[in-house]
Amino acid sequence: MAICDYCGTSYRGGAIKDGLYRYCTGLCCDRGKVLLGYLEKVPQVKIDSAIEESHGGPCNSCGHNRNVDVYQSHRIWSALIYSRWETNTYVACQSCAREKQWNDLMFCVAAGWWSPHGFLITPFFISFNIIALLYRLDPTVPSERFRKLVRMNLARRLAAGRQFLDSLSSIPNTNGQQRITNKGSD
Ligand SMILES: [Zn+2]
Ligand SMILES: [Zn+2]
Repeated sequence: MAICDYCGTSYRGGAIKDGLYRYCTGLCCDRGKVLLGYLEKVPQVKIDSAIEESHGGPCNSCGHNRNVDVYQSHRIWSALIYSRWETNTYVACQSCAREKQWNDLMFCVAAGWWSPHGFLITPFFISFNIIALLYRLDPTVPSERFRKLVRMNLARRLAAGRQFLDSLSSIPNTNGQQRITNKGSD
């Protein structure tokens, strides 16, 4: 499952590509391009230092000054004829992310199976979480996804009329709002 760089929705199938960025729809692509236009006048070194600064934490979850990045985990539960699933994307330090991924894995193992549909798709959710857990991001280097997220946040703040320095200092706070949940049910 891929995540749209503009709206954060996860989608399957064809993405609309624009350089490094991937969007779920043409509308998100147009809006993303307009937003990123705000960064054109900002020198690359300033953008890089903004990325470094927000990568250094603090973690929204534990509050420690650890390197943070973008992580993902998945949950499903079912009962008789109903099942409900969600994908959570969040910015946290690696140990908080591993704990959340592990908890969501255990949640799927315990709660996923209890409808015919749940029985069929729970193995996929279990494997998504195992893959997420085993995926070794080097915590000292910001991932490409994290870099894109910070750039997009910066652009949003510049678009809202803030000054660059003002936006810099407020980036770590925006990470807390960057918790994106995608839900589905049947
Ligand atoms: Zn989108
Ligand atoms: Zn943490």
